Formats: sequence, structure tokens, C-alpha cells
Amino acid sequence: TTIRARSARLFSRAQHIFPGGVTRTTVEKDPVPIYVAAGEGCRVVDVDGNRLLDLNNNFTTLIHGHAFAPVAEAVAKALRTGTCFANPTEHEIALAELLIGRIPAMEQVRFVNSGTEAVMFALKAARAFTGRTRIARFEGAYHGAYDWAEAGQNGTIRAENSGRRLARPGYRGAPLSVARNVLVLDFNDIGSLERDLVPHASEVAAILIDPMPSRAGLLRPMPDFIDALTNIAHEHGILLVADEVLNLRQGYHGASPLYGLAPDIITAGKIIGGGFPIGAVGGSAEIMAVFDDDGAPPRVPQGGTFSANPVSMIAGKIAMEMMTPEMFAELDRLGERLRNRLTRAVQKRDAPFSICGAASLFRIHPKWTTPQRYCSTRMDAKETECMRAMSRSFLKEGILLPFGAAACLSTPMTEADVDEIADVFDAFLEGYSRQGGE
Ligand code: PMP
Repeated sequence: TTIRARSARLFSRAQHIFPGGVTRTTVEKDPVPIYVAAGEGCRVVDVDGNRLLDLNNNFTTLIHGHAFAPVAEAVAKALRTGTCFANPTEHEIALAELLIGRIPAMEQVRFVNSGTEAVMFALKAARAFTGRTRIARFEGAYHGAYDWAEAGQNGTIRAENSGRRLARPGYRGAPLSVARNVLVLDFNDIGSLERDLVPHASEVAAILIDPMPSRAGLLRPMPDFIDALTNIAHEHGILLVADEVLNLRQGYHGASPLYGLAPDIITAGKIIGGGFPIGAVGGSAEIMAVFDDDGAPPRVPQGGTFSANPVSMIAGKIAMEMMTPEMFAELDRLGERLRNRLTRAVQKRDAPFSICGAASLFRIHPKWTTPQRYCSTRMDAKETECMRAMSRSFLKEGILLPFGAAACLSTPMTEADVDEIADVFDAFLEGYSRQGGE
């Protein structure tokens, strides 16, 4: 059996100093977190010496896997010449030029330190540009921890007096104005756009949309839904904000063009920092002018002590440069192979699972059919337990499969790694049907 004694000891030390023993809600504990000692390529080594194939990659950040040598070398050099300055550096220009050259919606860009900040400034920009307050977003989608981006992630509440549907605030005590000013829509549901958005459209600054919302189930956007959304936005002067913090990894030009989405503002993060903290908000020059000081105070002040720090800029530039169109195509091919093999395993065992995802991303649902709506991803107690059992059986075979998030491939992975993932899944399904799971 696998030994986790050191992880258990570290966790008991951590219990006294961190709420819940961890420094972010998203750390998985079953029942203790796995403490990592080192990462190399597509694997991590935990503090007990177990080697694990990493399908989490720090929540899809590490597209080249761990300790990617070209990044490590460039960053090591940069460490000796200063890691942050109040002054701008050439490195921010180089990364910006690379991103602008690839991402159609990005004519200009500002760098920040996280996806949360990128979404926050995107929403502020949309408000300043339109002069409107309200935000529309899709239930279940994760957009970071800005009050206005997290309200409604977990659905709606009923207003006490009017009975109106309000966004469920992200935490107790959040201002009620947040709940009132965030409209919650259902992804892939044109009826919801008509019911929940159109009546308030003249007050809405932005529709915040992750083209393939991962927390909501890695749902594939339907073309007629994207068309309807675009038409409503254009008709009512609402800005489309594509949150590609996670899904930019789907392609050389990002995710939006793959699904017919042409956003006014786009956010990025994760892979563009090469393993270092980053976020970016971009859009047309006309919209991005809200950040321009032009002699007067800008309409939206945007600062940040570590924003555009040269370490993140250098690491991001190298990581992205090495994501050539050929490299994206290779990840697509591996992803396709994996999803096909997982799907074949499900068909062979006639098991109640479905596989979704695109490019280097995938997710396994304990459902007969691939969910198209967030409401059909909800799991009952039995399904939740089944997914936990699945994560455990992967772990036993040395694979870290994220429990509640999208899983992803990285460029150091090979066909052999992908086939191993599929074999482990197949063995899990075999055990599952033997135990009489139906
Ligand atoms: N938006 C999306 C779509 C995300 O996936 C995430 C992070 N998982 C965020 C925003 C927040 O990014 P960060 O954790 O860097 O603040």
C-alpha cells in the first residue's frame, strides 16, 4: 500500500496554522492533502517518495509540465538581475506583443498577477466603458474571487419581499447590491437569455462567459447559443467578456475563435505566466482606453505592486513561444486519443459515465450522457462517492486526477502516458461493474 506518512505529519502541523490546514480552498484532501516535494516533467514526487502522473498541473497552468528547463534557465538568469522594479521593462512588451499577435480580441493588454484580478479589471473596464453597473454571468462557472464575479456561481436566492431571483453572493455578509446587480443565466440555454437577460439588457455592462466553463462541467458551447448571445449583446450594447484564464490553452489563438465567440474584452492567466503568477486583460484599443491616464486620472485606475514583474513576463514569453501551432496540434492529438479511449472504455463496459473536453482538457462525468447544461452535471451522494472512488483508484495507480476540476495534459506527456490513463480508467470501470454499480 502507498505510504503517506510524511504528508499526514505535515498536515497535522498545518492544522494549527492555517484555517482548515491549507492556504487555498481548492486543495484536495482525501483525507489529507498530498504534499509535493518536487515536480519534473509530467510527474510530481510527493514527500513520501511516490511518483505521480500529474493531470492537475496546478489547475491547468503548467502546459509544459513541471520544472520546464527553458523557463527555469531563463528565470535563474533573471533572478540575478532584479526581480521587480517600479519601472517598466522590455520583457512586458515582448510578452504583450506575442499575445496580441495571436489573440484576435486583444489589441491592447494590461498585466496583473492572477486570473481573479484580470476578471476584476475586465468587469470594471466594461462598466466604465458602458456607464452601466450590472453584470450577467452563467451559473456554475468559476471566475475567481472578485465579489461581482463569484456571485451567482452557486446559483440564485429568492428576494424576501419581491420573490425575484437574485445571484447567491459568494460569502455571507456580501453586500446585497452584489446579488441584485449580477444576473444569473443558464449556459447553453437560449430561453434563459430571453427570460433572465433581455428584460434587463439596457442596464447590463457585460456578459461574462468562459467559452467552455470548466467548473460548470467543461460544457461545450452550442453554436446557436453563442449566436443568440452575440446578437443580444450587440443589440443592447452589452460587452462580451470572454474569461479565457483556463481555456486559452485550447489553441494558438485561444478558445473563443474555436466556438464562434468574438469578445470585446478577454482575460487570460495560467499558461501565459510559464508557471509564475500572472493575469492579463485585453481588448480593443477603444475599450482599453479606460485604463489610459492621458494626463488626467484614468477612468479605471489599474495598479498592482507585482504586475508585469519581469520574472512572470520572461517565463510566460518562453512558455508561450514554445507553444507553437505544431505543439498545440500535438496536444490536440493526444487529447483526442485520450478522450476516444476513455469513451471506448465506457462503451465496452456499458457504464454510466461520459467524457467531455477539448484540446488538452478532459473531464469524466458519472452520467449516461455528456451534460450540455450545468443543471445536468449535479451529482447525488452516490455519484459523488463514485467519483471519489475513481480518483482514489487513479491515485493507487500513480495518477493524480483532479476530483472537482478539469484534468489536463502537458507537452511532456506521450502516447504511453495517455494510454496508461485510459487503461487505469478501464480497470476502474471493470471493478465498478463487478461491484454491481449500474
Ligand atoms: N477564471 C477562470 C476561468 C479560472 O479558471 C480561474 C482559476 N481557476 C480564475 C478565473 C481565477 O484565476 P486565479 O486563480 O489566477 O485568480
